[in-house]
Amino acid sequence: MYFFPFIGGGHQIPMIDIARVFSSQGAKATILTTTPANALRFRSSIRRDQSLNLPITIRVLNLPNDAVSPDSPMSATPSTDTSVLREPLKLFLTQNPPDCIVIDVFHRWAADVIDGLNIKRVVFNGNGFFSRCVSECIGRYAPHEQLGSDSEPFLVPQIPDRIELTRSQLPPFARNKPGLPDKVGKAEEKAFGVVVNSFYELEPKYVEYFKTVLGKKAWPVGPVSLCNRNNADKTERGQAASVDGQSLRNCLSWLDSKEPNSVVYISFGSLARLPPAQLVEIAHGLEASAHNFIWVVGKIFRRAQEGRVGDDENWVPQGFEERMMEMKRGILIRGWAPQILMLEHGAVGGFMSHCGWNSTLESVTAGVPMMTWPLSAEQFYNEKLITDVLGIGVQVGSKEWLSWNAEREELVGREKVEAVVSRVMGGGEEAEEMRKQARALAEKARRAVEEGGSSYEGVDALISELKSLRKN
Ligand code: UDP
Repeated sequence: MYFFPFIGGGHQIPMIDIARVFSSQGAKATILTTTPANALRFRSSIRRDQSLNLPITIRVLNLPNDAVSPDSPMSATPSTDTSVLREPLKLFLTQNPPDCIVIDVFHRWAADVIDGLNIKRVVFNGNGFFSRCVSECIGRYAPHEQLGSDSEPFLVPQIPDRIELTRSQLPPFARNKPGLPDKVGKAEEKAFGVVVNSFYELEPKYVEYFKTVLGKKAWPVGPVSLCNRNNADKTERGQAASVDGQSLRNCLSWLDSKEPNSVVYISFGSLARLPPAQLVEIAHGLEASAHNFIWVVGKIFRRAQEGRVGDDENWVPQGFEERMMEMKRGILIRGWAPQILMLEHGAVGGFMSHCGWNSTLESVTAGVPMMTWPLSAEQFYNEKLITDVLGIGVQVGSKEWLSWNAEREELVGREKVEAVVSRVMGGGEEAEEMRKQARALAEKARRAVEEGGSSYEGVDALISELKSLRKN
């Protein structure tokens, strides 16, 4: 089996894990990648797997000499064009045809090449079942077309739960072109099936709905982050952490010194950029809440004329960081943090998140309730799953879908940040109920990937099907 991830960030991370999961269950897995620089992001974990005799390798596709690599020190964005890889991929597949290739939907050109060679193509789009169902039903029935305003709530038709959204929470393509499958959607229709980083027990009604009502062939195979079993895998996942070894040890021993479930972990994923004014609101809200925190600040939004993204620290309120350090209240991490390591620490008791699907699943897997702050992609749908279906989170109050690189003018105020942190971290009955529910799901997540579990069986089912097709 070949695995062809998109470059960097929230799509590449789970796809590497997926390849590792398949190889751990006996498939000979080859990860196709763009450049040696990109391979560096995950090479160590693959080497560790190889030293355990797992059948997994990395293959760097050779770019034509004059080609500009789509890779860069940063993650690619969803619109990055990777079609420079068309000929290298075609050549490699022709010379070394696999039983199947799992591709990321963001390689928009790749379906034609693979189908043209008659190779089985399995699609990975990074989302869970619930959001796929919501998105399909909005596309099919266009419930948002007749509304008086963008802030008027509507019910998502036909799905098993009562889910309300507003037009302002939909991505522009869902707002404007109901019912028309895009190129990505069409490519998926012709695929052999889809692998989904989720597990049956998390969203059973939506796994069924996706398969039977929407008629998709799908294998739930997650949570794939659980294949990162040792600390090295967890620390290096995605890319090397921005914190150096000593700071990481300090951070972990700071966590060790805290009461169980007393620290909020805050992160908005690999891509999102919040404007400085929003960061200021978060800082004040955290300070007022009087709870402990680890805040991964990530990238900062700047207008073009304001210079490079993320190299300005002037947004931090006067003395904030020093006060927080002195009071042992909180730590700021600038750049990349080892997220699963943090979430799994017993002191972390809440995750303020943009509801990216990986982060959502990682919070579930760690049994940590969430403070939901969706920004773009399908994150507003994930928020509804977390708060309205699973009951493991509280909404911060984010109302508007905006592209990851657009300027957000409407801010979530400090009082909302403080209120939501107090609600989830304050130890009341509601918080305890959410924590209990999150823990129960974490237990189910672990069982799903163990031998005999639902996702383990999902992986096995795809491998077996490919084997039986080979015999014929
Ligand atoms: N991540 C991480 N450290 C960071 C930021 C992100 O390890 O500082 C990982 C996180 O654990 C998750 C992925 O990057 O696996 C982000 O994916 P998600 O779907 O949550 O959001 P996206 O980045 O796609 O918006």
